[in-house]
Amino acid sequence: MIPETMRAAVFEGEGKLTLKSVPVPQIERDDQVLLKVEAVSICGTDVHIVAVPPGYIATPNTILGHEFVGKVVARGAAVSHLEPGDHVVVNPNDYCGVCTYCRKNLPNQCERIVALGIHADGAFAEYCRVSGKVAYKIDRSVPVEQAAFAEPLACVINGTQKVRLQPGETAAVIGGGPIGLLMAMMLKASGAGKIFLADRAPFRLEAARKLGLGRVVDVSTESLADVVRAETGIGVDVAADMVGSQLPLALDVVRKDGKVVVFGVNTRATAEFPQSLVTFKELQVLGTWLANATFPEAVRVLESGLLDINSLITETIPLEQIHRGLERLARGEAVKIIVKP
Ligand SMILES: [Zn+2]
Ligand SMILES: [Zn+2]
Repeated sequence: MIPETMRAAVFEGEGKLTLKSVPVPQIERDDQVLLKVEAVSICGTDVHIVAVPPGYIATPNTILGHEFVGKVVARGAAVSHLEPGDHVVVNPNDYCGVCTYCRKNLPNQCERIVALGIHADGAFAEYCRVSGKVAYKIDRSVPVEQAAFAEPLACVINGTQKVRLQPGETAAVIGGGPIGLLMAMMLKASGAGKIFLADRAPFRLEAARKLGLGRVVDVSTESLADVVRAETGIGVDVAADMVGSQLPLALDVVRKDGKVVVFGVNTRATAEFPQSLVTFKELQVLGTWLANATFPEAVRVLESGLLDINSLITETIPLEQIHRGLERLARGEAVKIIVKP
């Protein structure tokens, strides 16, 4: 039976995330499903929301948590594609379906987007209510700790689909956090001939080396541009800025007629570079934001076991330890931490 109350981690305002007892959400619309949360990953965004001052603005009195997998325990009358017991992953950026961008098949650019776990109740809780249209069935054989990667993976696939790296091509991934590592994994799975992974944080460099994704470049002691030029002669085919402030470096290390994908977000970063670089080098600079229609691919990648997702999981913890998990991530001492409510 579904209980009346549940434990949840509620963002109550600046720097304040409180574990408390709250009512279990009820299905209020025919198109909704109620999920029993099985695993939810702590995202860098969660760390930024809880930081003082906040690095990302969330709505106070919201349950955080947006990278998750759950089991359907109830559904509205209009939900026909899911059944109780199904395991589902969720696109937390619920879109309206009828605005101009939604009708252009760009739900990630929806004009009325609602971000679960940021502006509406998310999944650092025992139960979570979502629209059926953003819930995607995933095979039960995928361990829930790995299924929790569907959302970040769908975002990464939105980026890799734009650059369309071909087998044998080279890539530079600037930023070795969890998303940078996922990006490098996807590029490797796409057939990259050589990957350069750049970071300066010791824990991340060590994690990247253990994953064996390619040449790990410690930018505190060596120049990515020098390493890339020495090993490729002309630069990489694809450069990815996973940090959000590294566009000049990406433009520098990419070869002529290459592609640059700008993934990371830092709203305070302003870049200065000679614009003629883009012209002379005939570059394609591509932005990528959230997951577009890439959840089906993310689900298939997870079901196929193509990526070694397990090696990105530093620790699995109960909801009661979420503050310790957030602190560990803030200190840069973990790749991904999974919460099992
Ligand atoms: Zn996230
Ligand atoms: Zn819309």
